[in-house]
Amino acid sequence: MNLLPFGKLPAYRPRTFVPPNLDLGDWSHIAPLCDQLEARAASCRTAAELERWLLDWSELNAALDEESSRRYIAMTCHTDSPDAEKAYLHFVEHVEPQLKPRQFALEKIYVAHPLREKLPQPRFQVFDREVKSHVELFRQENVPLETEEAKLCQQYQKLSGSLTVNFRGEEKTLVQMGRHLEEPDRPLRQDAWETVARRRLQEAGKFDGIFDQMLKLRAQIAGNAGFENYRDYAFHRSGRFDYAPEDCEKFHDAVEKHVMPVVRELQAERRAELKLEKLRPWDLAVDPLNRPPLKPFGKVSEMVSRTQKVFDRLDGELAGGFRQMQDLHLLDLDNRKGKAPGGYQDTLNEARLPFIFMNAVGVQRDVETILHEAGHAFHALATRDEDLRAYRHAPIEFCEVASMSMELLGNEFIEEFYSAADAKRARRVHLEGIVWVFPWIATVDAFQHWIYTHPDHTRDERAATWLALMDRFGGDVDWSGYGAARANLWHRQLHIFLHPFYYIEYGIAQLGALQVWANSKRDKAKALNDYKKSLALGGSRPLPELFSAAGCQFEFSTKTIQPLTKLLREELEKL
Ligand SMILES: [Zn+2]
Repeated sequence: MNLLPFGKLPAYRPRTFVPPNLDLGDWSHIAPLCDQLEARAASCRTAAELERWLLDWSELNAALDEESSRRYIAMTCHTDSPDAEKAYLHFVEHVEPQLKPRQFALEKIYVAHPLREKLPQPRFQVFDREVKSHVELFRQENVPLETEEAKLCQQYQKLSGSLTVNFRGEEKTLVQMGRHLEEPDRPLRQDAWETVARRRLQEAGKFDGIFDQMLKLRAQIAGNAGFENYRDYAFHRSGRFDYAPEDCEKFHDAVEKHVMPVVRELQAERRAELKLEKLRPWDLAVDPLNRPPLKPFGKVSEMVSRTQKVFDRLDGELAGGFRQMQDLHLLDLDNRKGKAPGGYQDTLNEARLPFIFMNAVGVQRDVETILHEAGHAFHALATRDEDLRAYRHAPIEFCEVASMSMELLGNEFIEEFYSAADAKRARRVHLEGIVWVFPWIATVDAFQHWIYTHPDHTRDERAATWLALMDRFGGDVDWSGYGAARANLWHRQLHIFLHPFYYIEYGIAQLGALQVWANSKRDKAKALNDYKKSLALGGSRPLPELFSAAGCQFEFSTKTIQPLTKLLREELEKL
């Protein structure tokens, strides 16, 4: 039974190294190819031969990647199929763990190769620095520490996922409780908010306990790799070659100086519309005019055809890409029983085609999601001619420029979904969301900078630091009576526990997306051309060059943030 929504998709380039009928789910079939690559490296006599070797390795990686994606897609589209689950778990348990050390061995061989420096430049610059850094950071003694860390991550997830509350006679998860914060009935919102806050506070000691252990492990991991602190290690490990902690600090300062006044203005408007003296933490998600939710479409087929019309009006080439995805059944968008939650874009790496997964139910958020994921899909389509697999993917700081730009550019034609009045409202929700997220990103990022450069802090000092950041970036929300909930608010941000330092990327990317949007207001054709050109570069150039190809500056201080904030404010005033 074919559990995939799409049919057979041929490889974009015929295989030249991986045998055509190889079983990519069977490690005994894959291992000989790794052996061959290892043996062949030594016999490369010219840079061209080494390049060929890299392309063969790349072909194997693409084939394995696609195999993994196919199994993941089948499983998420059919969570009720034991076959799909078995196939996916087989790959995760029996192929990936065997593959990982072999990949690392190949990386080491590459880094030590005498012809490495003869490879054409700047073609291999980005690839080279990444592999080199990966090899240099590796320490055998960190392997068991990372296993410990992964176990703690799982403990955090288990604890967060297990939290339920009894609310008005029904047991509910905290995710389900979130919806009550959009209800017009204020006492109900307060009750829901307090119930969740109380439940989290009961576990505060456990969350802090898990984090204390993580902190110790991470300091040790960084020390073993020769770094003074975990922050500096994390910057290297995430491949942040093109910006430093000081740039992040400039971002925090610029958000405080330029975005916070807009946040306060929006909060004052909200307060006036809700006719309140003070905004409380449970007043932030409700529609300030108590209107029913926006209804952009009924059936998912309507969402697709309207999205197509948005792209038709935006750009012929991108519109063609979205049509191609429909023709090849590379979309699985409706919410139905037996589907995993959420939404994602994945790439079938051998066919070099994107796939979008969603659970659309007919709300405004779905429109933002389809535009966002389509932006990622356009990125994948734009890099099809790139033969080095590593370059068909950009760093997250730029991947999200592709997707977030598409939200902003697509929103210009959102009348395809709405009446004029509702279109205004949808745009307002979207733009306000962008304004709100900057201070939260700054808070989460600044908090981690402090944490990992003060490894011997106490829990009280940590809470005090968090509270100071809430003062800086929280705006005018009245938390009186809820000091403990406010001090522990960071417990709910999973990135702080699971993916340290991985958050500012979204802020950097949003600045890029806003610049693309600003450019499009001056010259739409040029902005779109630059956007498409930059997407086609994939990950082949460093971040500043990707940004500059898109017509943006890779810079996140006042110089960039001030004019963009001005634009956001002007656009919001029109709505
Ligand atoms: Zn994204």
